[in-house]
Amino acid sequence: MEAQWTGDVVIFGGGISGLWALERLKKAGYSALLLESQALGARQTIASQGIIHGGTKYTLTGKVSDSAEAIGAMPQIWKDCLEGKGEIDLQAVKTLSSAQYLWSAGALRSKVATFFAGQLMKSRVESLVGEDRPQIFQNPAFKGSVYRLNELVLDVHSLLEKFSKENHDSLLKIDWPKGIQIDRARKRVRLTSPGGNSLTLQARAIIFLAGKGNEALLNSVGLKHEIEMQRRPLKMLMIKGKALPPLYAHCIDASSVPRLTITTHEAKSGDQVWWIGGKPAEEGVGKPLQEVLKSLKKELKSLLPWMNYALVEATSFSISRAEPLNEDGKRPTQSALSEKDGIWCGWPTKLTLAPQLATKVLKMSEKQLGAPRKASLSAESHSIFQAWARPEIASYPWDAPSLEWNSFED
Ligand SMILES: Cc1cc2nc3c(=O)[nH]c(=O)nc-3n(C[C@H](O)[C@H](O)[C@H](O)COP(=O)(O)OP(=O)(O)OC[C@H]3O[C@@H](n4cnc5c(N)ncnc54)[C@H](O)[C@@H]3O)c2cc1C
Repeated sequence: MEAQWTGDVVIFGGGISGLWALERLKKAGYSALLLESQALGARQTIASQGIIHGGTKYTLTGKVSDSAEAIGAMPQIWKDCLEGKGEIDLQAVKTLSSAQYLWSAGALRSKVATFFAGQLMKSRVESLVGEDRPQIFQNPAFKGSVYRLNELVLDVHSLLEKFSKENHDSLLKIDWPKGIQIDRARKRVRLTSPGGNSLTLQARAIIFLAGKGNEALLNSVGLKHEIEMQRRPLKMLMIKGKALPPLYAHCIDASSVPRLTITTHEAKSGDQVWWIGGKPAEEGVGKPLQEVLKSLKKELKSLLPWMNYALVEATSFSISRAEPLNEDGKRPTQSALSEKDGIWCGWPTKLTLAPQLATKVLKMSEKQLGAPRKASLSAESHSIFQAWARPEIASYPWDAPSLEWNSFED
């Protein structure tokens, strides 16, 4: 059976960038559908640490970089949304921590203290002593300094759940690449379901917001060399145990990449998981699991020596950050949206920058499409559209059944 939907915009990709853009477009009156090939947030979004950065991480070298300035406005946009007074309503989203902590160990203490007391950082961070510190840093064996940074950490699954619940009718699961034909010139997408039903989507704009998947999508419409992306791989590390204390912190030294960035999450098994990025995740790429776990163990035992790791298990998870191509291969400082021969394509670069990317999408829609139009669906198409499969929400990396957990102690 064949059905046809006619509307303004078709988005490919149901991570944070596609979902945020979908809501902004719909709120502005545009008729839009989002197509997802796996599950909502399936790649980077569900694997992210959920930190809504305000840019402080990028000032650790002592300079306010472009990154710090571009991202500086984002936390307020997120806070407004979480309080129900922003551009979209995120009141249903859970906050894991209202702050990030920065800690410096031993020898670098005085250097870090001088830096944080300077003009650049004074208003951003608060030095903590005694009981104001998170429990883990109240141990008498801890000899470093601790600072509080007002950067939220969000529960990303609840973020995806909010979008899923409120946009059910605008989300379609697709059978990529078998069940998709994109006619770039006519801005038409033909979907075929595994059961043999067909749905033709006639849009005025097609937007690729599919993270790493943008590459294959661009390739499928002959634009692989016109809009280019880069991947920056990470080997994220994780440890889990029933008694791991909550920790949302960057361990800092004099470099711009934290020595460790730890966020804490609850696994389906009830274990607490420390999801660990920063230097070990960057430097561990391409190295065997046992080697990266050995380095992590050394680092954790030197930085948090009083912790009991007896019942803790550890493993790693490889994932790439997908971003617009940057000449020097480094992280771009902003989100990016390009347009080429009728296809729009974007990457947020960070979860935090998704609102910025969605604003770019909205502005391009206003400029290129003009006034919004209503969607139309022929009467005989209704049942096919209603019965079409909808994407589920992705599972957290630490809940993947295929992971091989290793005892952290020898
Ligand atoms: C380990 C890690 C930790 C991070 N931590 C943070 C953090 O704490 N704070 C922060 O601000 N940023 C963080 N980031 C960056 C952030 O996660 C990403 O910038 C952001 O999630 C990208 O969102 P996206 O929607 O563009 O892509 P993705 O989240 O990758 O989503 C892409 C979606 O498109 C779908 N898709 C792919 N191909 C197709 C296709 N052909 N058709 C339809 N759908 C398709 C995928 O299944 C997926 O659902 C982190 C990144 C990583 C990897």
